[in-house]
Amino acid sequence: MDTGRFLQVESPATLEKLGQVPLMGEDDVVFLVKRAKEAFVGWKDLEIKQRTQRIRRAIDVFIDEKERILDTICLETGKTRTEALYELFGAIDILTFYRKHAKSFLKDESRTPHGPMRFLKRVFIRYFARGLVGVISPWNYPFLLPLCDAGPALIAGNCVILKPSEFTPLTALLIQDVFRRAELPEGVYQTATGNGKTGEHVVRHADMVAFTGSHSTGLKIAEACARVLKPFSLELGGKDPAIVLEGGDLKRIAKGIVWGSLFNAGQTCVSIERIYATEAVYEAFVSLVLKEVKGLRVGIDEKFSVDMGSMTTHDQLQIVERHIEDALAKGAKVLAGGKRISSLGGYFFEPTVVVDVRPGMAIMEEESFGPIIAIQKVKDDEEALAAANQSTYGLSASVWGNQKKALRLSRGLESGSVCINEALTNFVVPELPFGGIKQSGYGTRHGKEGIRRFLRSQSVLLPRFAPNREVAWYPYSKSVARMIERGLAWLYHSRF
Ligand code: NAD
Repeated sequence: MDTGRFLQVESPATLEKLGQVPLMGEDDVVFLVKRAKEAFVGWKDLEIKQRTQRIRRAIDVFIDEKERILDTICLETGKTRTEALYELFGAIDILTFYRKHAKSFLKDESRTPHGPMRFLKRVFIRYFARGLVGVISPWNYPFLLPLCDAGPALIAGNCVILKPSEFTPLTALLIQDVFRRAELPEGVYQTATGNGKTGEHVVRHADMVAFTGSHSTGLKIAEACARVLKPFSLELGGKDPAIVLEGGDLKRIAKGIVWGSLFNAGQTCVSIERIYATEAVYEAFVSLVLKEVKGLRVGIDEKFSVDMGSMTTHDQLQIVERHIEDALAKGAKVLAGGKRISSLGGYFFEPTVVVDVRPGMAIMEEESFGPIIAIQKVKDDEEALAAANQSTYGLSASVWGNQKKALRLSRGLESGSVCINEALTNFVVPELPFGGIKQSGYGTRHGKEGIRRFLRSQSVLLPRFAPNREVAWYPYSKSVARMIERGLAWLYHSRF
């Protein structure tokens, strides 16, 4: 397995070296694929209960290993312990959801034909695991995101190869260790550490790909899969808008929006990235946001001592700097923050509030994925809605203020999900399907839909009434023609 090449892993908060992992090439991936294909034969044929029991065991080990997992997530990403705890909670909750509902989500589904066929045919749909699922994940939630996909894929009877981000492979290897200790058969769950090239090999050899990451990589994966008609799902980036209306508790709204913008240093796919505040609330809202931001503590978390940690990659930090520079050059004003925090050593960036922003600035159009709160003043609710929809992305959105008004306005939002007087938490409610529209993705995770994507379906038809016979009768005769005529007449008169 050792190709003689390694990936170095560093702490983004301290820049110290944390370790190294193999940089896997195609031969390494093919080796894992062969093992997975062998393991698939036994794994798919287990009773659902036998598979969910292994997942139950894994959940127990995850909880036993809580401190080690939290330490590793914090070290690799620079996030706070509370943010890491959210990851752990979200992942365990999703695994528990699928463990509980697996039987009903995976069972055969009978359908009743709506027309005359209901008297003649029995039909149902059955589901089968697809085989080997390649899960490719990013660095911002290295524990939660792989398990959101790998959990349901495994329960559905697939084998999984996870290709974690090159920035966070240590958390991924911990997940693998837990599944080993939970006695998942060898080859059922494996990890291919490496870079984008390693990801390409996984895409080439898997039977299905579940990708989470940037829009540009998502397009490459869609193209590679489309060429051979391989199923895939894409959970991509966003530029989530928040609309602030009149009629709510503005202090709470400001707190909620600051949290939704800066959680995980703004590196969440559903982070609030653009805020449209109506004229009536703008001044008061901005001053409450400023007050909230100025009270935040940034640094390396030691037992819940800070509110915001470092950013996770140097590239992302540079994107944030570029967006601030571009906004300033085009007339925006920075009211708080706006710079790196060099004194802390790692990739820290100040929580930043920017106003006088407008379309045409990168900060309002491209994904910043950093601790920026960009607020645009708009005339009224309708202008806010139109501005919110002016985006190539459509992942999530939020509306804040009077609940009735907010709910009504939210119907017009072009996004895969909407929160009212809330942000981000829709991701950790597994009953709610999650997925983007426009350039934010293709396919859905969570809910029944989130496990069904890991299954192929087979539609089955058999005769309902074949008295004394098990086989349908197909005579070429007038009587069949008469039967069809009668069926047509029934349809015509809408008897069903
Ligand atoms: P990225 O696209 O750079 O990398 C994601 C993964 O893809 C990594 O494991 C990487 O090694 C791999 N990869 C890169 N090139 C590849 C290729 N050609 N073929 C196969 N795999 C390849 O994304 P990132 O910077 O790690 O993550 C940040 C992005 O993820 C943001 O845009 C964010 O919005 C998005 N994201 C989306 C969701 C969601 O649910 N919609 C959740 C979290 C993050």
